[in-house]
Amino acid sequence: MIKFIEKEPYSAIVHTYEVEGILYKGKSKFQEIAVIENPFFGRMLLLDNIVQITQRDEFFYHEMLTHVAMYAHPSPKRVIVIGGGDGGIVREVLKHKSVEKVYFVEIDEMVINVSKKYFPDVSAAIDDPRVEIKTMDGAEFIKGASNIDVVIVDSTDIIGFARTLFTKEFFLSVTNCLTKDGFFVTHTESLHLHKDIVIEMQEELRKVFPVVDLYTMAIATYPGNWWAFAIGSKELDPRQCRHTFDIDTKYYDQEIHAQTFLTPGFYKKLLNRQLKW
Ligand code: SAM
Repeated sequence: MIKFIEKEPYSAIVHTYEVEGILYKGKSKFQEIAVIENPFFGRMLLLDNIVQITQRDEFFYHEMLTHVAMYAHPSPKRVIVIGGGDGGIVREVLKHKSVEKVYFVEIDEMVINVSKKYFPDVSAAIDDPRVEIKTMDGAEFIKGASNIDVVIVDSTDIIGFARTLFTKEFFLSVTNCLTKDGFFVTHTESLHLHKDIVIEMQEELRKVFPVVDLYTMAIATYPGNWWAFAIGSKELDPRQCRHTFDIDTKYYDQEIHAQTFLTPGFYKKLLNRQLKW
């Protein structure tokens, strides 16, 4: 069987996957796009040869990037999803009955089209009438947005054209578009492999958000596995759920919500850079 070797440019680990078949291979204006079949993970979406999602375990990441902010908010109605061209975050957002509008801002239309064809269960909600697709840079879109309850960034790694989504300028635009109870959430790579990036992102967010926190979970196919999510708000504590759990999920629930954050002691030592690894 042929093998796919994933070597992320700034991670110390190389992953090797068996390939049963290459279902799609193409190139957009922005990146190389491929869909391969692996005997264990099923279909896998690759962008520039980096694994984005797998059929088998995508729900862990999509549920956790979405529902912590959505349940910390008292009643999210207007949501922006930046990136996430496979549609997994949009699917999770639309499970919330309070949602009236989702701006789905993906820079690369081809990722949306390939996902619709090869990952129909993930992209299932993209055509919902509450979704407005904007094919542009999320950092540009956010400048003109207002009255938003939750902003979710599901981007590729913090390199290349995704960089615009991890700057102080972008975070400032996010705070400007959020309502008083609003939340912002983004992934910030692996705590095992990219500790300094995780800390820097917390520091950058703290320059513009009064409340900033960090939660983590294990993802099998992301290098370093121990994936970190940064969450910020204007005043509300993201550790608290503010409405009743009423959706269908495989992993996320309100006990997971409570346990997913770092303990206060460990979080403080991490941010004070007291921990060496
Ligand atoms: N869950 C995945 C991960 O962390 O590996 C990310 C999946 S999703 C496919 C990532 C998407 O972000 C890509 O389709 C990419 O085109 C999009 N993206 C990257 N930078 C962007 C930007 N500045 N504005 C909008 N979309 C962006």
